[in-house]
Amino acid sequence: MNLYDFERARVKRFLRQHRAKRAGIQLPAGLRRHLQEIVEPFAEVDVETFMLADSCYGACDPADVRAKQLGCDVLVHYGHADMGVSACLPTLYIEARMPTDQLRVVERALPELKFKRVGLLTTVQHIAHLRGVAKLLRSRGIKPFIGRPGPRAKYPGQLLGCDFGCVRSVATRVDGFLYIGTGEFHPLGAALATGKQILAINPISEGFKVLTPDVDAFQRRRKAMIARAAAGERFGVIVSSKPGQARFKLAAKLAEDLKLAGKVAHVLTVDEVRPEELGDFGLDGFICAACPRIPIDDAERFEQPVLTPFETQVMIGKAKFQPYRMDEVTKGDFYQA
Ligand code: SF4
Repeated sequence: MNLYDFERARVKRFLRQHRAKRAGIQLPAGLRRHLQEIVEPFAEVDVETFMLADSCYGACDPADVRAKQLGCDVLVHYGHADMGVSACLPTLYIEARMPTDQLRVVERALPELKFKRVGLLTTVQHIAHLRGVAKLLRSRGIKPFIGRPGPRAKYPGQLLGCDFGCVRSVATRVDGFLYIGTGEFHPLGAALATGKQILAINPISEGFKVLTPDVDAFQRRRKAMIARAAAGERFGVIVSSKPGQARFKLAAKLAEDLKLAGKVAHVLTVDEVRPEELGDFGLDGFICAACPRIPIDDAERFEQPVLTPFETQVMIGKAKFQPYRMDEVTKGDFYQA
């Protein structure tokens, strides 16, 4: 069995439906080694392919404009669920779901699950398995909860780095969470947002571990970051031109608030947020109105402090540090087109 379902028949239907001659293909890092397999259905219907090889972290970043510039008629974006970002070309999202049965690994990990009421979380690759996992848990006397999707997720239980809606919607009803997926950022974010333990199961390595969020240590680090930033005068409010990260409305509001608080603020627009370019502006700190993961994941790559929008409000005295709020993207962050 193939590791991922690349939905070859659906891809061909889409290409035929749009009478495509040339298609742009977008792949996140984890799927790139499957390129050969991915291009096969395009070749079968005689469609030329352009692999758009810039970085691709999410459905917030469809490369429709680049694909159009290259003369593509359509874009096929793999590895993420459609989050409703508008595109200038017909765009198909292939979620690259993993068909492998995950109940065996969940069953092996169950002795580590100490909760009686558990919230189930996953990424889109494993979303189809959540109901089966819920059934397994019920058969063991554990009550499962699958939370409602937030504004960006498409499915119940689907966790994104910028949308913890499915976590928050069940947080008060569960003792902890069970996460199925790779990587630790998503479950750690959920743990920090709720202060609850998470049993994280990696269905590829078949490993599992309990993540106990050190909320105090995390918040101490963020407080220190706010204090460092508060000593600065001049700030860059970073906003990305990636369509699903382009929080210009939020950036403008933050810049205005900073100015009212006596700071100097410039809105800096980039495609990818990289310290190499941003360091040249001689600023004392940055506020990230692009992807919410950046100030948490990438802070150490910057010489200057990088704050989230919420932390900025704390710095200028417009919000209290407690209760701490993780940054998430909301529809109100964007200018209406
Ligand atoms: S904004 Fe960040 S966390 Fe959200 S989908 Fe894009 S890359 Fe992922």
